[in-house]
Amino acid sequence: MAKTAKKRRGPHQNTKAEPDVPVRVGQTVEVEITGMNHDGAGVGRVEGYTLFVKGALSGERVRAQVDHVKKSFGFATMVEVLEQSANRALPPCPLYDRCGGCSLQHLAYEEQLRHKQQIVMDNLRRIGGFSLEGEGAITVHPTLGMSEPWRYRNKSQVPIGEENGALVGGFYAEKSHTIIDMDECLIQHQANDVAVATVKRLASELNIQPYDEVRHAGLLRHVVAKVGVKTGEVMIVLVTAQEEIPQRERLVAAIREQVPGVASIVQNINPDKTNVIFGKTTRTLWGSDVIYDTIGPIKFAISARSFYQVNPAQTEVLYNKTLEYAGATGTETVIDAYCGIGTISLFLAQKSRHVYGVEIVPEAIADAKRNAALNGVENATFEAGPAEVVIPAWYEQGIRADVIVVDPPRKGCDEALLATILEMEPQRVVYVSCNPSTLARDLKVLAEKYEVKEVQPVDMFPHTGHVESVALLVRTDE
Ligand code: SAH
Repeated sequence: MAKTAKKRRGPHQNTKAEPDVPVRVGQTVEVEITGMNHDGAGVGRVEGYTLFVKGALSGERVRAQVDHVKKSFGFATMVEVLEQSANRALPPCPLYDRCGGCSLQHLAYEEQLRHKQQIVMDNLRRIGGFSLEGEGAITVHPTLGMSEPWRYRNKSQVPIGEENGALVGGFYAEKSHTIIDMDECLIQHQANDVAVATVKRLASELNIQPYDEVRHAGLLRHVVAKVGVKTGEVMIVLVTAQEEIPQRERLVAAIREQVPGVASIVQNINPDKTNVIFGKTTRTLWGSDVIYDTIGPIKFAISARSFYQVNPAQTEVLYNKTLEYAGATGTETVIDAYCGIGTISLFLAQKSRHVYGVEIVPEAIADAKRNAALNGVENATFEAGPAEVVIPAWYEQGIRADVIVVDPPRKGCDEALLATILEMEPQRVVYVSCNPSTLARDLKVLAEKYEVKEVQPVDMFPHTGHVESVALLVRTDE
C-alpha cells in the first residue's frame, strides 16, 4: 500500500513532508475502532481519514497518538482505552510491547481465530471477487486453533550481543539493532528457552566473547536451539564469527551436562558483515548431525540448516486437511509443487499411487529424498528446479496428475504455473497458503476452470498476525 501511495505522487505534486490531512504527526486524537487490519492494528476514522491504530481493538474507543501520515491513511499508537472491548486480553508476556514477535496477544485467542477467518474472507471477496453468501458461495470454515496456544515453536534463533560488558541475548528492540536480553518467550518451546539460557550463561562463565556487529568483532553471534517436540531431542547451533572457540571442549562438555535432551551440538561459522544468521560452513562438535521429529506417522531428520515447519502440532492439522482435500484413495498421481523438504509429499504418498515433488532449493530436495528413504517411501520422486519449469516438463514426459497441491511462498504462485495447471486440468487443486491476498489473486485465475469449494484457515502462529489456510478447488466439468 505504501508503495502505491508513493508512486502516485508525481514531480509537480505537493512535496511537503506532511500531506494535507485532518491529523498531524504527534497529535493526540480520539478514535472509534471499527475493524482490524492484517497486521492486527485497529482501524478507525478521524473526519473521514483512515487511521491504523496499533494496540487498539475493534469496538473500542481509544485515545491515540499519530505517528505517521500519508495522503489517504495514517498510523497511530494507542495511548489510552476509553471504552474497552470485551475481547481485550491481558498480554501475559512482559516484553510484548517492545518485541515485534507477537502482535495479537492483547486479543482473546478465540477472537484471534475469528479475526483470521475474517481476513481470509475479506481477501476472497475484495481481491478474488468471490461471493461468500448465497448460491455458489465459498465456505470459509472457522479457523482451526490450538487448545493450548503457547510454547508451540520448535526453533529459537537468538542474537547475542553485549551490554555494559555483559553477554546478552534476546531480540532486537523495534526498528533497532539493540538487543533486549530475554530468557523466556511464551510462544517458544520450554526446552529451547532452557537450552538458550543455559548456553548464554555458560558462554558468559567461560568468557566467550559476544559478537559486536558495529565493530565486527567478538565471537558468538547467535545461539539457535531446535527441539524435536515428539522425540524430545535438542540441537544447539553456535553461530560464530571465527572457527576457533576458546575453551571449546569445556563449553561442549558443560552443554552436554546441563542442557536437557541435547543430542547434537553444531557450530556454524559466519565471518561476514551481514544480517543473515548462518554462514556457509557447518560442523558437528558433538553428537549427531541431525535430530529427529515426527509429524503424524512420518519421521523427519532435521539438520542445522534445513527448513522445518515451526509449529509441528498445527502442521499435522494442516497436512491432514490437505490430505483430505486431495481426496486421494491410493490410485492417484499427485504433484506437490513448492514441496520444501517433502513434508506434504510424504504425507500424500501414504494415500497415492505416486507423488512428484518439486522445489527450487536443491538442499531441500536432498532432505526430501533422505526423508523418503527414512520412512521407506518408494512412491515419491523429487526434482529440484522452479515448479513453473519442472511441471510443464513432466507434462511433456506424459505425467498426468489427478491432483496438484501447491504451497507457495508469500508472493504466491508463478503465473506460468497457474497457466500450466489450467492446461493440465487435474481434477483437484489443493492450495496451501501463508498469504490470503495472493491466495485470493491466484484462485481468481484458477476460477476459469475450477470451482473453489471450501477454504480452511489453520492457526499455525498463535498471537502473531500470520494467517495460513488451505483451499479445495474442483474442476468445474467434474
Ligand atoms: N510445502 C513445504 C514448504 C513450503 S514453503 C512445507 O510445508 O514444509 C515454500 C517453498 O517453495 C520453499 O521451500 C521455497 O524454497 C519454494 N519455492 C519458492 N519458489 C519456488 C519455485 N518457483 N518453484 C519451486 N519451489 C519454490
